[in-house]
Amino acid sequence: MNAGTLVVGACQAGVQIAVSLRELGYTEPITLVGAEPHQPYQRPPLSKAYLAGDATPTTLRLRNPEFYAENEIDLVLGERVASVDLDAGTARTGFGRQIRFGSLALATGARVRRLSVPGSDLNGIFYLRDMDDADLLAKALPDSSDVVVIGGGFIGLEAAAVARARGKKVTVVEATPRLVARAVAPVVSDFLAQAHRRRGSRVLLGRSVAGLEGRAGAVSGVRLDDGELVPAQLVVVGVGVLPRTELAEQMGLRVEGGIVVDQYSRTSDRRVVAAGDCTTLPHPMSPAGHIRLESVQNAQDQSRVAAASVMGRDTPYTAVPWFWSDQADLKLQIAGLSLGFDDVVVRGNLEEEKFTALYYRNGQLIAADCVNRAPEYMAVRRALAAGATIPARTAADSSIPLKELVVPASASV
Ligand SMILES: Cc1cc2nc3c(=O)[nH]c(=O)nc-3n(C[C@H](O)[C@H](O)[C@H](O)COP(=O)(O)OP(=O)(O)OC[C@H]3O[C@@H](n4cnc5c(N)ncnc54)[C@H](O)[C@@H]3O)c2cc1C
Repeated sequence: MNAGTLVVGACQAGVQIAVSLRELGYTEPITLVGAEPHQPYQRPPLSKAYLAGDATPTTLRLRNPEFYAENEIDLVLGERVASVDLDAGTARTGFGRQIRFGSLALATGARVRRLSVPGSDLNGIFYLRDMDDADLLAKALPDSSDVVVIGGGFIGLEAAAVARARGKKVTVVEATPRLVARAVAPVVSDFLAQAHRRRGSRVLLGRSVAGLEGRAGAVSGVRLDDGELVPAQLVVVGVGVLPRTELAEQMGLRVEGGIVVDQYSRTSDRRVVAAGDCTTLPHPMSPAGHIRLESVQNAQDQSRVAAASVMGRDTPYTAVPWFWSDQADLKLQIAGLSLGFDDVVVRGNLEEEKFTALYYRNGQLIAADCVNRAPEYMAVRRALAAGATIPARTAADSSIPLKELVVPASASV
């Protein structure tokens, strides 16, 4: 028997690599090492149902604890892999445990980007990446009346929606001129700002944080760049994440804002695969030639590809990206990637909070953001997976179901 596969990181991507290996018939040992003490869990609910008190650690689990033993996956929790010797095929954890491997998979995810303005170390400032973060935030929320969310990305907006639903006075501070600017078109950013304002939150755009002010060691307000002091007993910071690349760097793998992988989830060293938030993958529209996707879909699909590569059954990554975000009663679902779009068509009604924004590049449908329009989201996902399009000239006509406007790949050329 060979030494099997070591998977570093036991969350969405790491668990999927182990699961996919077994599904593909891999019979060698699998060791799955995770630094967190918890049973592997899903992160998305942390800023949604879990923060709102509608989910528990048990409901967040990716698999039942018995699953790992039943599938002969040796799950090691609460230990961090500290060093790897690729040539020797050994890794060592922080507790000194030595693990042998034949193949190595990195699924080390990302860590939050921290604030560095004055006052960043005061009590009452929270980040939201893991279950411990969410527990601390959920515990502090009831005792705070003024909440400031720094960063108008998905996680910040989801946390803002939960706090607002709990009756808090919520202010969202976003440094760029619009919300979620990296992921959606201006029309969707504007819609989100209005939607949060309608629900009572204050949304400040193009305003940055100069510092955090405190009393007796606890935050009392957020000082903005124009001098305004926004009162806050609780601050949630959602200003992005940094991929965890330290092990990859230690091994001399190519790292450029993430562990660089190809369409087979292979790193620059063929002995190592990587998947999930820690990676950056090829994309023709990205100026760098590759992009980092932070989503459950990407973690899962890249991991399936990585497992196939470990088994020598190269299968390229061709999945259509998808994503979702729940903010109050708004369900935003995104199919495809809008990177490099040159046209946007909106169908439906922004005021009624039910619409779809379709993105085009050179006349071809590339993505859609759907708000409270689940059937349209499914229609776009299916169309993109089939290489089909929805002509921009007919897409806005809401009297015709979107799925009936799909033009198959063969007819669109
Ligand atoms: C609050 C929140 C809400 C989100 N909402 C959505 C959503 O609505 N939709 C969506 O698609 N995505 C969402 N995401 C993103 C999604 O959860 C991530 O893309 C996904 O979890 C990535 O999985 P991963 O396994 O690559 O990384 P991670 O989930 O970051 O897991 C990596 C794991 O590896 C461990 N690790 C790192 N280094 C080592 C080491 N050296 N040794 C051992 N273990 C190590 C880490 O401790 C961690 O547990 C959300 C994320 C957060 C934080």
